[in-house]
Amino acid sequence: MSYRPLPLSCYCGEVPDRILEVGFTSDRNMVIHFWCSSCSRVLFVSKSLEECAQYCPAPDDTAIPLDHAGEDARFLQSLGIACEPE
Ligand SMILES: [Zn+2]
Repeated sequence: MSYRPLPLSCYCGEVPDRILEVGFTSDRNMVIHFWCSSCSRVLFVSKSLEECAQYCPAPDDTAIPLDHAGEDARFLQSLGIACEPE
């Protein structure tokens, strides 16, 4: 399985360094809530399921192989949750 990151950027052109929340609306859209530290702005990006499907790589696409443990750690870090080393 491969995955493709969803490109996110602020109106100022900066890529957000922190995603605050990911959720879903009653009209079946995915919403990403993020913070731009460059211009101190809270942004919401909304994607329909059809748009989400368009971002999915083709099954034979040899993009980035999914590293579950690494992705989990990066996701938690993006939410501001750091895993304590044992
Ligand atoms: Zn910005």
